[in-house]
Amino acid sequence: MRAAGLREGVDEHLLTRREMLLAGAAGVLSLLPGGSVPACDFPVRDGVPAVDYHVHIGDGISVDQAIELARRRGLKFGLLQHAGAKGRGHAVSDDAELAAWVGSLDGKPVFKGIEAEDTDWTSAFSKPALARLDYVQADALGVPDASGTPMGIWKPDFRPGDPQAFMDRYLDYHVQRISTEPLDIFVVPTALPDALRADYDRLWTERRMRAIIDAAVKFRVALEIDSRFRVPSMRFLEMARDAGATFAFGSNYQTAEGLGDISYGVEAYRRLGLTLPQFFCPAPRGRKPIGRR
Ligand SMILES: [Zn+2]
Repeated sequence: MRAAGLREGVDEHLLTRREMLLAGAAGVLSLLPGGSVPACDFPVRDGVPAVDYHVHIGDGISVDQAIELARRRGLKFGLLQHAGAKGRGHAVSDDAELAAWVGSLDGKPVFKGIEAEDTDWTSAFSKPALARLDYVQADALGVPDASGTPMGIWKPDFRPGDPQAFMDRYLDYHVQRISTEPLDIFVVPTALPDALRADYDRLWTERRMRAIIDAAVKFRVALEIDSRFRVPSMRFLEMARDAGATFAFGSNYQTAEGLGDISYGVEAYRRLGLTLPQFFCPAPRGRKPIGRR
């Protein structure tokens, strides 16, 4: 639907090397035998993807409620459960629970995802079980302190101590997760704790932004444009675009009213002049990060 419309009639030899790199990074435009191009299964409205990849089920939102909301908003949703090692309260923590989650979405007009918690989540699942998902996403909000304990940076009363030391640790955790885990999308990149939010532009120096962007491009992990926290900044997104990154939209709200709010993503997509090959599409089976990393 999207890619076919975009590339219809375009001779593959006319693609520039940069376009082919972008296409490869998006994981969608690699030409099939015969030169046809697989489409990505989400609607496109006024030239902009109409998809929200960051919709959590639970906490008062059921799968059917989410699907009804997506239908009313003219969007496709990617639905998520928190997933990780046993004993830490994650909704999905072994192959049987993962199969039940995926099975509950079979035949429904949604993408099937998980939000991977902590850095050891792959130890809880087999590769074939994970490969049944459309995508895996993760964030850096669980950044640990020097003792390995998550600092809880999302809590309003979190105090980061020395801001520069915090930023270095937080940056390292972004880069570590993107570089070492088989992720499709990295979400809420650069989101800061409340206490530092006013200093976002000063703390996210070009060097720090570059380190995240370089890792995302190198390991072909899409970067979420998060509408709840309005991150990353346009400055970051411009740099990421110029470096050949791919992007995904996420509302990341936990309420029915907020689900499907991809307004910041749409705004960024237009301002940056993004095109569909620069937008995340779940890779086909066998080509997902879980299969190739
Ligand atoms: Zn989330």
